[in-house]
Amino acid sequence: MERLTRRSFLRSCLHLAGSAAAFPLLPMSTSCKEQSGPADSRPGRETEDSPERGTAARTAHPEFEPAFLALHQTGELSQRAEKLWGLMASCELCPRMCGTDRLASDTGFCGASAKLEIAAHHPHFGEEKGLVGTGGSGAVFFTNCGLRCVFCINWQISQGGAGSERSIEDLAGMMLTLQKIGCGNINVVTPTHYSAHIVRAVDLAAGMGLRLPIVYNTCGWERPEILRLLDGIVDIYLPDFKYADGGMAEKYSSGADTYPQLTKAALIEMHRQVGTARPSADGLIRRGLIVRHLVMPNNIAGTRAVMKWIGENLPADTYVNVMSQYTPVYKASEYPPISRRITRGEYDDAVRWAREAGLTNLDIQGYRFL
Ligand code: SF4
Repeated sequence: MERLTRRSFLRSCLHLAGSAAAFPLLPMSTSCKEQSGPADSRPGRETEDSPERGTAARTAHPEFEPAFLALHQTGELSQRAEKLWGLMASCELCPRMCGTDRLASDTGFCGASAKLEIAAHHPHFGEEKGLVGTGGSGAVFFTNCGLRCVFCINWQISQGGAGSERSIEDLAGMMLTLQKIGCGNINVVTPTHYSAHIVRAVDLAAGMGLRLPIVYNTCGWERPEILRLLDGIVDIYLPDFKYADGGMAEKYSSGADTYPQLTKAALIEMHRQVGTARPSADGLIRRGLIVRHLVMPNNIAGTRAVMKWIGENLPADTYVNVMSQYTPVYKASEYPPISRRITRGEYDDAVRWAREAGLTNLDIQGYRFL
């Protein structure tokens, strides 16, 4: 494995600056990703410093220890990475389980081979308040996606191939760069198909001083078996819960009719691992589950059923972000039911249904956009 050198670190910094220029209006983060958040991602701040061992952790909270550190110290983190890596031989990292031999450089349904491709990394200020703090969330946007929604706001990255090939060492350098410039976490956006690469990079970066929580920012459609391999590595799960109806998922997310059942199982597993998201004294969330639900026009998302399920299966104070910013982009105009934004009335209904489901920790910042 290539050593993380000053040159590769500087390359990460340049990529950071270039990323911000190339994607100045990237929405929040969202995995494949749903259209979360205002387009409020400020450009990253370039730095030319090298992440010398020990100094890279200076922005991390002094009393916080990320979950992955213990596994790094015992060698378990490396073993987990190798298990995930092996699953790419007949790939089963995501629910498509398409069986592609990515280790032989074949490309799966998601568009990924064994080569790591990254579109951007930079501090992100459009995420949930508890993830942003003063330094931003350290977002890394991965190219390709297994869900492939027709309304994806990041479609150039998830389905258009935007991004470039990077090494594990590059990714570790990006994480250290984001920590060094003051981000509160490492936010891996659409991580599923590169989970093996990410765990390898976290292991490498941990040895060089990475001390920030990992935010696993996913479309929600995850295999619980894979999530169990991330137990003790991820501190914050940030899944979408996009659809209550498998027929809708099939229609708008490339045949993913198992979306509701698998996402429900995934949310249960995520909550088992990290519990409910609660802010620390400084306002930053460093551990827990945050669920995002994008309200869609004509109730395509099945919001009432989604909220009812969360209310019945997760604690009442589960952090649920009720998002209003659906925008008919990419291929959405080809589908009349989703070819418009939502109305204020539709958002009001969504919030009312969430409250009727007994949910008490709602993020309804979405009102600002209606
Ligand atoms: S991650 Fe990609 S290659 Fe692997 S199963 Fe999913 S779609 Fe197939």
